[in-house]
Amino acid sequence: MNRGKLIVVSGPSGAGKSTVLHRILDKHRDFRFSVSATTRSPRPGETPGKDYHFITVEKFQKLIQQNALLEYNHYASGDYYGTPAAPMLETMERGGTAILDVDPNGAFQVRRHCPEAILIFLAPPSLKELRTRLEHRGDTSPEKIEARLRQAHWELQQAKEYTYLVVNDQVDACVERLERILAEDPRAEESLFINNQHLEIMKEVL
Ligand code: 5GP
Repeated sequence: MNRGKLIVVSGPSGAGKSTVLHRILDKHRDFRFSVSATTRSPRPGETPGKDYHFITVEKFQKLIQQNALLEYNHYASGDYYGTPAAPMLETMERGGTAILDVDPNGAFQVRRHCPEAILIFLAPPSLKELRTRLEHRGDTSPEKIEARLRQAHWELQQAKEYTYLVVNDQVDACVERLERILAEDPRAEESLFINNQHLEIMKEVL
């Protein structure tokens, strides 16, 4: 049987990743989205098993020992986050498409396990635009905005290691570019990042 696809999507906070991914998952009901495991507490409105698997540190460490995670990270916040391997590998074994939303560290770990993984980086058109988006959210303090921009700068520097870089200047166009990549339409090349000199955002960070 044809082994399925493993799609890893990363992008800084404010790049519009969740909006774009929701659109893709709405269109492709058969795609399996990875629900991460985390040791942080649920936030209001989050559903266990849908947003995250909320587990204890002991359970998380056991998963690490059992090699049951495709990747994981222990963040400065003290919380662990990781991708349970079994659902993703099972999806691929039956020829399906598995989608992960992880940071660059996680994405590179996944690629070490599964070299055929397709890594897609979703970037904002510019750091200025990213700042505007974060400020307009209105739910983030100025200190947090600065911290997210520093994190975004680092993440964008990692984008050159990805298979594709897609700029989210406009949601419909961005979804369309992702669709072309998923369909392996060679025209996808037009919107890719073959030469990062063409992209304003990469000039800003490299
Ligand atoms: P939040 O707590 O706001 O939902 O997520 C905090 C951070 O954890 C985000 O940067 C998010 O990308 C990252 N994260 C969420 N799930 C995973 C995962 O499975 N693996 C890794 N490495 N990071 C994750």
